[in-house]
Amino acid sequence: MSAKIIDGKAFAATVREKVAGHVARLKADHGITPGLAVVLVGEDPASQVYVRNKGKQTIEVGMASVEHKLDAGTSEADLLALIAELNADPAIHGILVQLPLPGHLNSDLVINSIDPAKDVDGFHISNVGLLGTGQKSMVPCTPLGCLMMLRDHHGSLSGLNAVVIGRSNIVGKPMAQLLLGESCTVTIAHSRTRDIEAVCRQADILVAAVGRPEMVTADWIKPGATVIDVGINRVPNGEKHKLVGDVDFASAVEVAGAITPVPGGVGPMTIACLLANTVTAACRANGLDEPE
Ligand code: NDP
Repeated sequence: MSAKIIDGKAFAATVREKVAGHVARLKADHGITPGLAVVLVGEDPASQVYVRNKGKQTIEVGMASVEHKLDAGTSEADLLALIAELNADPAIHGILVQLPLPGHLNSDLVINSIDPAKDVDGFHISNVGLLGTGQKSMVPCTPLGCLMMLRDHHGSLSGLNAVVIGRSNIVGKPMAQLLLGESCTVTIAHSRTRDIEAVCRQADILVAAVGRPEMVTADWIKPGATVIDVGINRVPNGEKHKLVGDVDFASAVEVAGAITPVPGGVGPMTIACLLANTVTAACRANGLDEPE
């Protein structure tokens, strides 16, 4: 039997529609236009594509989009000075510094210089701490998008066994925190995990955030499990390239109960959640009720 395909593209469109509604109300009732500033240092091709998409979608939902493209040799002092300016700018409610940064820049220092209230990526140490202690925070966009799809599919996640493959600060760890917050029993697997296939086979919810093309095959998956594939891997396809996830979709779809495709799963939800976080930041900055 074939799994239900969780359509992240369609889900993201409904999230963007809701965001656009909130933006329209903020403008009409309070004269506030939420503003998102994206800072890109250097010319990484994948980052350029992400930044372009973020800017386009920000404008489509009625928000203000500001892009700062700095050359690869930008000094840390200049980057920190720009962030300080954006922190102080009342028209900017969200600040995103596109990662990865060129090697001479200290990413932790840069991210932690963002005003936590404007840290719409949720990577600032304060937001990490707030999430870890179950307090109101900015939640990282990719795990938030995964959680929204899981909640939509399952309703309550309480008591389910969740395995997250990957322990990065931007996906794996916050994903595990969110699932714990939903009362799942959470295991984080990584490159040193022993008998990872057997660990994964225990999962009612399996989230793969690894960066290894099609690593998770059908025999890693408990029949009926929900599989969320975060991976975005470019692999050769004849003369061109194609995108595949960390999950071998063709075999996994025969075993799983539900699965996200790549592309069209987690990716579109990530940007939609970034827009939602920016609206949340704009509401909080103005002492208004935030959207659910
Ligand atoms: P990182 O490289 O930071 O982390 C990868 C994690 O996978 C590490 O914890 C690593 O373990 C683990 N890992 C690597 N190899 C193996 C293995 N053979 N078995 C088990 N675990 C392994 O990646 P990110 O978290 O940043 O991203 C993961 C994937 O998600 C990438 O494909 C990325 O492109 C994609 N991504 C997609 C987004 C979206 O919007 N859809 C957003 C962000 C990322 P260890 O810690 O032991 O080294």
